[in-house]
Amino acid sequence: MKIAVFPGSFDPITTGHVDLILRSLPLFDKIVVAIGVNSAKKTLFSLETRLAWLEEVFKDESKIEVGHFEGLTVEYCKSISANYLIRGLRNASDFDYEKTISQLNSVIGDGLETFFLIAKPGYSHVSSTIVREIIKAGGDASAFVPKEVIING
Ligand code: ADP
Repeated sequence: MKIAVFPGSFDPITTGHVDLILRSLPLFDKIVVAIGVNSAKKTLFSLETRLAWLEEVFKDESKIEVGHFEGLTVEYCKSISANYLIRGLRNASDFDYEKTISQLNSVIGDGLETFFLIAKPGYSHVSSTIVREIIKAGGDASAFVPKEVIING
């Protein structure tokens, strides 16, 4: 059984994330979309809210599960018998960062493989950071998030 984890903060999940996850689906038997919880990192949305959005977005996808974890991604993968990670690449700075992390994970995760997908042209400008900035400034970010993500305020 090929199980992959798509880890992230998903603060909030964007249309870019969804596109990446759906494009990865044919490659795996199961994809676990997992929120990595880092207590030192302040998020705009609570873990409960972010999890509820993920559950709602993927509720009709039988091969997709939602989870969360603290600590090392490799330990989480081991605990759920996942052998693959999925990450997205939007630009050269994503590449530099992701390359180092994936090489580290391969060593400390006993050969855990990371699969990278290049962002679709229409999504490479979409990021959770941009969405948060729009929200904080009182703007409408609905073009960049799935319809299930309802932001009040
Ligand atoms: P993290 O906090 O770990 O960077 P994110 O939730 O920001 O988590 O992103 C998770 C993954 O999704 C990363 O691999 C990131 O490169 C990828 N990603 C984010 N936005 C997009 C996008 N618009 N297109 C493709 N991949 C994306």
